[in-house]
Amino acid sequence: MDLPPALLQSLQNVKGFNQEAFIQVHQSGQQITSIRLNPEKLKIQNLKFKTEGHVLWSSLGYYLPSRPSFTLDPLFHAGAYYVQEASSMFLEEVIKQKVDLSKPLKILDLCAAPGGKSTLIQSIISKESLLVSNEVIKTRVNILSENITKWGAANVIVTNNDPKDFEKLKNYFDVIVVDAPCSGSGLFRKDPNAIGEWSQANVALCAQRQQRILADILPSLKAGGCLFYSTCSFSPQEDEDVLDWLIHEFYTDDKIATMESLRFMLEDDWGIVETVSDKTNAYGYRFYPGKVKGEGFFIAGFKKADVEDGGSQTAHRNKKIKKTFEKLSNTQILIVQPYLLHANDFFFIKQNEDVLAIPMQLEKELETLQHILYIKKAGIKLGTIIRNELVPAHELAVSNIINTNVNRCEVDLENALQYLRKQELKIECPYNGWVILTYKNLPLGWIKVIGNRINNYYPSAWRILNK
Ligand code: SAM
Repeated sequence: MDLPPALLQSLQNVKGFNQEAFIQVHQSGQQITSIRLNPEKLKIQNLKFKTEGHVLWSSLGYYLPSRPSFTLDPLFHAGAYYVQEASSMFLEEVIKQKVDLSKPLKILDLCAAPGGKSTLIQSIISKESLLVSNEVIKTRVNILSENITKWGAANVIVTNNDPKDFEKLKNYFDVIVVDAPCSGSGLFRKDPNAIGEWSQANVALCAQRQQRILADILPSLKAGGCLFYSTCSFSPQEDEDVLDWLIHEFYTDDKIATMESLRFMLEDDWGIVETVSDKTNAYGYRFYPGKVKGEGFFIAGFKKADVEDGGSQTAHRNKKIKKTFEKLSNTQILIVQPYLLHANDFFFIKQNEDVLAIPMQLEKELETLQHILYIKKAGIKLGTIIRNELVPAHELAVSNIINTNVNRCEVDLENALQYLRKQELKIECPYNGWVILTYKNLPLGWIKVIGNRINNYYPSAWRILNK
């Protein structure tokens, strides 16, 4: 693995960089696999794999001794865990150190696909909080929606917007996470092909894009709110220099910096290196493979100062918003209610033919957001009401809000995989009608039992294709 000389050169004076160790760790061929459990779905004892210790800075992250075939583990498809690079799980620690998570918060994950950070954030916020999980690139929103669906939580709204679109949500979010698109040098060990695509020119381009993204999104951060910025690049141009730029760029009329750098507490055995930017002494946190058990990563945090900057409401909120939701009739509500564990915690709306369940406390937020953003998914899709019956959606089956009374049929590994391949099932099931298929008690999706016949309702687009 020949690392780009220009990259090595650019890191010479960066704290924590040791060229010999850096080259050696990239040539070692070592691959680290880690997963993060979904606390709503899985306890570590129920995991099929052997683990090899805890990710030190994560309450739910574990290393695996080798990379198993996740595709052939039904629990992976059930959203029981997320395969996530260990260093990036540090986001949990920084949020916990600086944000009061017991409060109902509005959090934006701006660059969210495929959903690693979003699923992490969802697991640590309260049920009363809202996570807006946004991805600008249309072709990447589907995988984000799929992963959020499998995660099962109702308090997430997936959007497909450019950072600029958020400018109308002035001072709206308590926390914004910008896991920025970058030149990717931190992941060379995982993807050696990326080495050939690396160039100094691309680093410069990425740095410009990162600045533009931050400039576009900052107005929507509340005064007193926190911004967490991360990359998987080692290049100071995309890391510490962006912190300098951010502090320089955002001054009040009285020349007070509005973005205050946050310092995090570190444990010595984590191996994370704290850096300080050249011009503004902003704190950054570097993850060097070899020093940490994980890949290259950089993260920094800021608090937006409590300064007057022209009103703290969204442009929209000051106007009277016309509700545009089509709500369910009482008769229709009675049809969907039995499917839910705590039906009174939700309000129900119709979107085309689909019925959605949205947590009650998010009604006002959804009203605001739907006028400003392109909403790809909100709450949990319950299904369609046809002739006074609910034809249930897959999303409901794998959600955390489904009633445990709904008929379930447990299957073994072979049948679970048969189901996930969307093939014919030959199982004994004592019920008729809609039944949830479970593996190790976790829902995989719906089947419909009609006499001796079993119809497989696993979503075609998600089926396992390999043998
Ligand atoms: N946060 C994700 C996770 O943990 O799974 C990974 C995000 S990845 C590092 C960066 C994301 O930014 C990509 O999904 C990419 O499509 C998106 N992106 C690319 N250009 C962008 C732009 N101009 N503004 C905002 N996001 C952008």
